[in-house]
Amino acid sequence: MKAQKAASPKLGVRQATKVYHTASGDLLALDRCSLDVHAKEIVSVVGPSGCGKTTLLWSMSGLHGLSSGEILLDGQRIVGPHPDIGIVFQEANLLPWRNLDANINFPFEIKGTTPDRQWVAHLLRRVGLEGFGGKFPRELSGGMQQRAAIVRALSLKPSVLLMDEPFGALDTFTRDEMNRLVEEIWLDAPTTIVFITHSIEEAIFLSDRVVVLSPRPGRVAKEYRVPFARPRSMEIMATKEVFDLTNAIKMDIVGGRAQAQLRQLAETSN
Ligand code: ADP
Ligand code: MG
Repeated sequence: MKAQKAASPKLGVRQATKVYHTASGDLLALDRCSLDVHAKEIVSVVGPSGCGKTTLLWSMSGLHGLSSGEILLDGQRIVGPHPDIGIVFQEANLLPWRNLDANINFPFEIKGTTPDRQWVAHLLRRVGLEGFGGKFPRELSGGMQQRAAIVRALSLKPSVLLMDEPFGALDTFTRDEMNRLVEEIWLDAPTTIVFITHSIEEAIFLSDRVVVLSPRPGRVAKEYRVPFARPRSMEIMATKEVFDLTNAIKMDIVGGRAQAQLRQLAETSN
């Protein structure tokens, strides 16, 4: 009985299929994509641009529906935005006319509740934003804005955190810093994290598993377990194991893209 419970995923993606109906015709973004994410696991999703990563994440969050298939949270079907699922986007999406405190309060105002002040203060301290509550987004650097977005998401105490290329717009050093921060936050209070990135290095540093999607329509093409214990030091990134893993993932993505291009060529020449 116990073993059975451990095996059931926190988040289950079952045969997720998403068709966008556009003016120029239907576009199949995800095609029977299936993936399990276990409680307190960090899973990164990588894949070529346009392969359906954001579509997958939005589906997981309940922000948009699937054409077929389902997303399960603790075995329950997700049919809309869920209070137990937090999301962080590439853009921090802070409201420019509100200071940091008021931005963090915003989702609570919408829900008509109040945040756990102690938890928010702890998070702000954790990400190095203590004392910045009165600052407006324009007064914060890109990295600080993303930290604020993480605090805003975590202040709601979600058990699942979905992140869509959250550090994609940051410089390499800030990104490394943010990766360490995500790890620290996770070590502090482990949550289930699905992390989308186009940086294979970032995916490896952060994750227990890296999932590679095929070119559109997105489907899980491959998955890799990352064997390093936490906390991880940036030094692991210079090891042969990481070098080999990075190359293997790169080859999957490049190979998948080449195959897709060949398929397209064959289709258009027929
Ligand atoms: P990724 O995040 O991997 O770059 P996306 O999930 O954003 O990929 O997009 C997958 C495909 O679906 C792309 O071809 C994209 O142009 C298309 N797409 C994404 N969102 C929409 C939308 N709202 N309407 C129509 N097509 C979309
Ligand atoms: Mg995307």
